[in-house]
Amino acid sequence: MNSFNLPNKNLHSPKDIIPRAFPGISQIEIEELIALSQVISYPATSILCREGSLETKFYILLEGKVEVTKTINNSEERKLKILEAGDFFGEMAIMHNAPRAASVTALSPVTVLEIEKENFDSVIQHSSTITIAMVREISRRLRENDEMAVEDLKMRANELAQAYQKLAEQELARREFITNVAHELRTPLMAAGGFLNQLQNKAISPEKLPDTINTVASNIHHITTLVNDILFLQEMELILPKFQPVNLTVITQEVANHFHDKATANHLSIYVQAEKNLPSVSGDSKSLQRGLSALVDNAIKFSPGGGQIDIRLRKEDNYVVIDVEDHGVGIEPENLSRVFDRFYRSESPGGKMFGGIGLGLAITNQVIKQHHGQLTVKSEMGSGSTFSMRLKAINVVF
Ligand code: ADP
Repeated sequence: MNSFNLPNKNLHSPKDIIPRAFPGISQIEIEELIALSQVISYPATSILCREGSLETKFYILLEGKVEVTKTINNSEERKLKILEAGDFFGEMAIMHNAPRAASVTALSPVTVLEIEKENFDSVIQHSSTITIAMVREISRRLRENDEMAVEDLKMRANELAQAYQKLAEQELARREFITNVAHELRTPLMAAGGFLNQLQNKAISPEKLPDTINTVASNIHHITTLVNDILFLQEMELILPKFQPVNLTVITQEVANHFHDKATANHLSIYVQAEKNLPSVSGDSKSLQRGLSALVDNAIKFSPGGGQIDIRLRKEDNYVVIDVEDHGVGIEPENLSRVFDRFYRSESPGGKMFGGIGLGLAITNQVIKQHHGQLTVKSEMGSGSTFSMRLKAINVVF
């Protein structure tokens, strides 16, 4: 500690300051205190008391300001108060023979009256004024500590209640998810099982055999898709993919090619229009492809009248945007915000006929979230829907 014994010339005299610390103190007691102590100055940032240390000095602040701080919950440094000329500190250790309960740091150059414990003890033996002032101060600080502890407890209780609420919500979502999965698996499993039973019992005529096998295969395909989607969602939550520069135009073209036959079978054509020199994005091409595929698959599925699907790639501010626009059935305005929920499917009679599990958009949404992008939808009943994936551009032009 950098200290020096030459008091500042402008220093308030200890004789003037001591009565501020101990109102009613007699002249003799003041002189006795001064005789047994030292006037010492410290530069700013000096630590006069260190929390947890066994120190034996008592201080009366003559000039400057100090800050009292305390560590809460092993890490958080709490500012308790600022002391000025006439305030005293370090008295707790003197009364209790215990380590410092808080730290005291000089906020400016300070001058203090420093008294060693044994000297101070001899003064308070016969000074009731000093003793009363000390007891008053200690009980005030204890009350303050109590209030602070209660406040801390309230804060912790609040945090705990919030964490509990979050856990309860997660548990509910988990149960709902399991119920949905079980339900989704049961229907095709029971259907396939029923047909296999009939096959075993030779209850199916040879003419109906191809249809039955097709139905069993389609039920198994439904189960496989569901399991794959769930695994993909699960994996995305557990493993963060390595991001690399991705050319979205290439990915989009691949997805469009992949769906070409399915679109044609549904009397649809897919048009891809991409702005030239689009920047790349940072991402995982497999996940992005999967997310985009769900949008194109839906665009086909929900365009029962055939027609056209437009996929546009464009730059908007610092983003690359992919719009997938169909001219199909559209989405009811009240359901627009729900389409991204896991297992959500339109409940309208038409919705059922399109089939689907209700995980496609949840996957796209999760992929875009993982890429810190945005997924939005605009739709009009009977006119069609446009889903837009917005991903941050990086400075690589392909
Ligand atoms: P799935 O297509 O397997 O049912 P999704 O999560 O992909 O599940 O979609 C959820 C629901 O959102 C669909 O069942 C449908 O009601 C609605 N939806 C999604 N895309 C479209 C679209 N392009 N046009 C109309 N409705 C759509």
